[in-house]
Amino acid sequence: MIKQRDPDESLPAIGRDQEWPVVDGWLAVGGLPLTEFVQRLGSPCYLYSRERIDRRIAQVRDALPRDVELLYPVKANPLPALLQHIAGQVDGFDIASGGELERALATGMTGARLSFAGPGKTDDELAEAVSAGALIVLESAGEAHRLAGLTGSRRPRVALRINPPFELSPAAARMAGGARKFGVDSEQAPQVLGEIGRLPLEFEGFHCYPGSQCLDATAIIETQRATLDLAVELAAFAPAAPRVLNLGGGFGVPCFAGESPLDLARLGASLQSLTRDAAARLPGARLTLELGRFLVAEAGIYVCRVIERKRSRGKTILIVDGGLHHHWHASGALEGRRHLHFPIAVVIGHDSLVRSSVHAREVETVTVAGPLCAPHDVFAQDIELARAEAGDLVVMFQSGAYGATASPAGFLGRPPVSEMLI
Ligand SMILES: *Cc1c(COP(=O)(O)O)cnc(C)c1O
Repeated sequence: MIKQRDPDESLPAIGRDQEWPVVDGWLAVGGLPLTEFVQRLGSPCYLYSRERIDRRIAQVRDALPRDVELLYPVKANPLPALLQHIAGQVDGFDIASGGELERALATGMTGARLSFAGPGKTDDELAEAVSAGALIVLESAGEAHRLAGLTGSRRPRVALRINPPFELSPAAARMAGGARKFGVDSEQAPQVLGEIGRLPLEFEGFHCYPGSQCLDATAIIETQRATLDLAVELAAFAPAAPRVLNLGGGFGVPCFAGESPLDLARLGASLQSLTRDAAARLPGARLTLELGRFLVAEAGIYVCRVIERKRSRGKTILIVDGGLHHHWHASGALEGRRHLHFPIAVVIGHDSLVRSSVHAREVETVTVAGPLCAPHDVFAQDIELARAEAGDLVVMFQSGAYGATASPAGFLGRPPVSEMLI
């Protein structure tokens, strides 16, 4: 579906589905041809569209019940301009390090709107988050005791992260069920809740994060229901009535061939009824979701340029100036899917000053590889693309999340990638 079969189409199907606009024959961001930005930033670069982020957040808000709180996990894309842009449109940020705490506070967001999760928070990070007024999501009994010992007269706000007996099985990244570094096993939770009650901590509720990058709405709905059941059961052992139940997120975006978009309308409808159940069974607790990639992945593209075009034993290989040191995710390595590839398109002609579209270009089978001296630095193998020459630009879609900061930037000593929110 994402192969470019029809040379009259300037974008592969996935690009068209997402309605990236074309201006003067070029893929455009914020109303301007992408060449404007490549001239300014050089190549490779990441370009993120404010308009597309806003549209996605509005879709999510429309689909979800009004009283479900929406947090943005900074991890998905921590570019300061992007955080600043999103800060006013979500209820808070999910942070997972002292560095993310600083970036979150730099947007002007108050500490009270931050939720700090993560299995290895240091004493310094905990102390800074408490003084900012953030909700600390405890991941172990040891952390509860450490936190209580740190903060003197202040009673830190805490939630307990539960490692449930179930997992989000279709998710590309599973983060619960079995033995995990995340959270407290549900069977240990009654005892840990008792300990929290004896410590100078302000208990606010529960957090559960079964997994990331799931495209199966039914599986997400089932784990959300199971999470509510578990929270109702554990509330009996809690030192105070829970005021928050963070259901996690896991809403995925299609990145690889054969994947289709998540059914947001169904999830929204199910959350309407879950919210009513929660109001009856866990009165006073607000439901929270943490959505990272779902808000930003489809708003970003990674742009790189063909450096060499070569033939090797019957195959054509395009060597581009961007590689896994910038976009590890697109190499399939992040989720162990190296045989798959992100949607890719060749977008334009020889240099950024010559405007020509790819209309009527011949299509060929190529491998697209990065410049690193590492055999796994390959973005796509044997795919159909419009014919590209050295100097042409290649775009990877679905690249707004887990791009630059989720990649091994120091590998092979190449320059860092530029990023811009437009
Ligand atoms: C990684 C993570 C997220 C964000 O996941 P996405 O797939 O980007 O939505 C949210 N919450 C927690 C606790 C995480 O670890």
